[in-house]
Amino acid sequence: MLIGSLIGVSRYRLQPSPAQEQALLEHCGHARYVWNLAVEQHAHWKPGRRSAPGFAEQCRQLTEARAESAWLRAGSVIVQQQALKDFAQAMSTFFGGSHRRPAWRKQGRGEGFRIVAAKAGDVRRLSRHVGEVRVPKVGWVRFRWSRAVPEGVKSYRVTRDRAGRWHVAFAAIPEPVPAPGLGEVVGVDRGVAVSAALSTGEMLHAPGLHDTEKARLRRLLRKLARATRGSNRHAKVKAAVARLKARESDRRKDWVEKISTDLAQRFDVIAVEDLRIRAMTRSARGTVEVPGRKVRAKAGLNRGILAAGWGGLVRRLEDKAPGRVVRVSPVYTSQRCSACGIVDRVARESQARYRCRSCGYACNADVNAARNIAHAAGHAVSAREGPRDAGPEHREPQPVLLSV
Ligand SMILES: [Zn+2]
Repeated sequence: MLIGSLIGVSRYRLQPSPAQEQALLEHCGHARYVWNLAVEQHAHWKPGRRSAPGFAEQCRQLTEARAESAWLRAGSVIVQQQALKDFAQAMSTFFGGSHRRPAWRKQGRGEGFRIVAAKAGDVRRLSRHVGEVRVPKVGWVRFRWSRAVPEGVKSYRVTRDRAGRWHVAFAAIPEPVPAPGLGEVVGVDRGVAVSAALSTGEMLHAPGLHDTEKARLRRLLRKLARATRGSNRHAKVKAAVARLKARESDRRKDWVEKISTDLAQRFDVIAVEDLRIRAMTRSARGTVEVPGRKVRAKAGLNRGILAAGWGGLVRRLEDKAPGRVVRVSPVYTSQRCSACGIVDRVARESQARYRCRSCGYACNADVNAARNIAHAAGHAVSAREGPRDAGPEHREPQPVLLSV
C-alpha cells in the first residue's frame, strides 16, 4: 500500500463496457471541441492587441455556448470547463518557456478529459484486482486495481491512447521522500548518449525498446508505408505501431519513478542543469523549416533528449524532493574542468570524453559536467546556510550562476 502512494504511480487500465466507451468518447469529443475553440481564439491574438479572453471569460462564453447548443448541453460541464482550465495551464507553461504553444487537437490522438471535485465514495474496490470509478454521465466504470489507489483522490484524468486503450490516472502528489540528512549534493547531467550521468560517476540509461522490438518497429513502419490508407490492414499495422510506442513510453515512465525516488532518498540536494528543453527542440524545428546545415544532426539530438524523458524526471524530482532540487545555469558545465576549475573550450575530445589540457584530468564528459553542476549547487547551498536572520527559513533554492 505504501509503495504505491510513495512513488506516485497512479495510472490504471480502464475497462469500459461498449456503451460506456461511447459515452467516454462523447466526453473526449466535448473536451476536444472546447479546447480547439480556445486555440482558435488565441490564434488570432497578436502582441499589442487587446488580450485574448482568459479562463474566467472563456467559462462565461462556455455557459452561453451550452445554452445554445443541445450537443454541448448534453455533456458534462465539468469536462468542458476543465478543458478550458487545461488550456489556460498550457498557455501559462508556453509563456513560461517550458512548453510549446498549445495546438489544435485531432480526433483519435491524445484524447482525454479531466474530472475534478471527486468525492470520497467515487472510487471503490470490488475485488482483489477490480475497482471502479464514478464518471459523471457515464456511471461506474471498472478499472484494473493493479496497485494501491492513493488516498483522498480529488481529481482524475481519463485518457485514450493511440492504441485505443483507456486509462484513468488519479491525481495525487507523491509523498515527499525524507532527505537523508547527510549534506550530500549530487549533480545530474542530462546527457544524450547516456540518459543521465551523476557526479558520483554513475551512468543511468533510460530504457527504450529492445533490439528485436526496434527491428519489429522498423518492419511495421515499412508495412505501414505500403498499406493503403483507410484499409483494414493499414489500421491493424497502425495499432501495432501504437502498442510498441506505448510500451516504450510505459518503460520510460517506470524508469523516471524509480530514479527520482532513488535520488531523493540518497541525496539531500539534487542539482540539475536549467535547460530549456522545449526551447531547444523548437529552435531545431525552426531550422528544419528554413533548411540549413546540421538540421539532420540537430533533429537526431532532439529525439535523443526527448527519448531520455528529461522534463518528466525533473518534475518528479521536484515532487519527491520539494525544495531540494537546485537548477544551475548550464554555462560552461561541459567546458569547465571539474578537477582544476579551468575553462577550456577544446578540452572535450569527443561527445563522450573530457580531457583537461591543463591538469591532465580525464573522465567521461557527462560525468565531468555532472560534477560541475554539483559544485555550483554546493556553492549555492553553503551560501544559503549562512546567517538565518532574514527571511523565512524554508525558502525555495534560487537558481545560481555557475562560478568559474
Ligand atoms: Zn584540469
